[in-house]
Amino acid sequence: DSCFNNLHVAIISSPGMGHLIPALVLANRLAAHHNTSATVFLVTTAASPPESNFIQIPLHRNLVRLIQLPPVDISHLVGPTTQVFTQICLMVRSALPLIRSAIAAMDRRPDALIADLFCPETAPIAADLGIAAKYVYVPSTAWSTALTVCCPVLDREIDGQYVDQPDPLRIPGCEPVRPEDVTEPMLDRNDRQYGEFIGMGKRYSQFDGILVNSWEDLEPKTLEAFRENEDLRLIINKIPVYPIGPMRRPVEPVDVKSDLIMGWLDRQPNESVIFVSFGSGGVLSAEQITELAWGLELSQQRFVWVVRPPTKGSIDNAFFSLGTDFDGTLNYNLPDGFTRRTQNRGLVIPMWAPQAQILNHPAVGGFMSHCGWNSTLESITSDVPMIVWPLYAEQRLNATLLAEEIGVALRLRVLSTKEVVGREEIETLVRRLMQHEEGRVMRDKVKHLKIRAVEGLKNDGSSYKSMCELLSDIALRKGNMNGSIGCNGVA
Ligand code: UDP
Repeated sequence: DSCFNNLHVAIISSPGMGHLIPALVLANRLAAHHNTSATVFLVTTAASPPESNFIQIPLHRNLVRLIQLPPVDISHLVGPTTQVFTQICLMVRSALPLIRSAIAAMDRRPDALIADLFCPETAPIAADLGIAAKYVYVPSTAWSTALTVCCPVLDREIDGQYVDQPDPLRIPGCEPVRPEDVTEPMLDRNDRQYGEFIGMGKRYSQFDGILVNSWEDLEPKTLEAFRENEDLRLIINKIPVYPIGPMRRPVEPVDVKSDLIMGWLDRQPNESVIFVSFGSGGVLSAEQITELAWGLELSQQRFVWVVRPPTKGSIDNAFFSLGTDFDGTLNYNLPDGFTRRTQNRGLVIPMWAPQAQILNHPAVGGFMSHCGWNSTLESITSDVPMIVWPLYAEQRLNATLLAEEIGVALRLRVLSTKEVVGREEIETLVRRLMQHEEGRVMRDKVKHLKIRAVEGLKNDGSSYKSMCELLSDIALRKGNMNGSIGCNGVA
């Protein structure tokens, strides 16, 4: 790896924990395993406390730096109905001049720009500043990446709403996508976020490659399609896709607040507790919270549940205002007497919990999750099978992959977030996962999947090699730009 010693990359992260965490994890990985230095630029907004206040991910001491850009104010650009997806696009767009000047001001020009999934509009900045190589980092699956890049094609070929199509949507070389599984911005073609999503899909192919947080074993068919399927390759302008996952956050040392939870978990039998949490932005309706509480109580299983106050949508500004401490005045809509009746079996944690540590605790044997991709990877690498309850973004796609293709998750019967999932269904799912043979089989499968994933990250594993290919490409482009011969690509 010595030929990568001198490389330096700039990683651009859009707002939101689900984006910053994988950016920092990638930076740390490049530093620790490849001696590459990385500067992460985080787009921030005036409206929210900076994510880094809550993140607690130790950065590699010598080689990784986090720079929070001055906050952008998009309040004049949004209305009450502007979707979170559109808001993130607007924030990044408003921050483009800040990103440009922050990179231009660096002592040392980076050799590559790595833009996260929401930041492909930074491509011209790389060209402007003479940065030799540029990549998009999609911290999710190859399958959702395929859907994103193919959406502009589907847009031309299909009339009417995707959700009303009688047949699955065709993606060259990949599993077709069921109409009801499309990503959130594809649910309504008349909403502004759809236009943003199309733009995103088109811009990815302006880069020199796409990094995905996936690995060969997990998505063999889709990754092969990106290498071999001519139609798909044409759509992305024949750029390579680098599967470098699973990139997941480390399990941080326990802090005082989490001691309470860890202490409680220490007293529970192995693999007996289900962890219930819906990511950084997931929220449920008042009615749904009540049904979930009843379902957990009726299942008679042990649980740790991260609750948030109810709202009408499936994602809200929680996405931008994380880590907020417990506010005793909030009404979480739990049934009367719920905490008292379940006090010996369950723990209710308001707002935010140290998820990576909880999942990693031996007492945890199941995870009811919105299946955001970070959460999913944390679950898989902690040997924990899931009940998948997709809410927003690409989560319905993740749910189908996990439940139907990989077989490490149970899925809710209802597919729409508008319907309320009844207590009986929740009770049954929890029992199936925690008590039945079915759950045990999934737990074994997850363990196997984890072992293979870890192997892939080791020195001759597929994800490690993929990262080396990426770094070779950077070194080569850097060499070409300097008019000298760069690293020859042999890692
Ligand atoms: N997370 C956490 N505590 C919480 C909720 C979320 O630590 O109470 C972390 C979680 O471990 C994961 C990230 O926030 O690393 C959420 O990312 P994900 O991709 O799962 O979902 P998103 O929030 O982006 O929808």
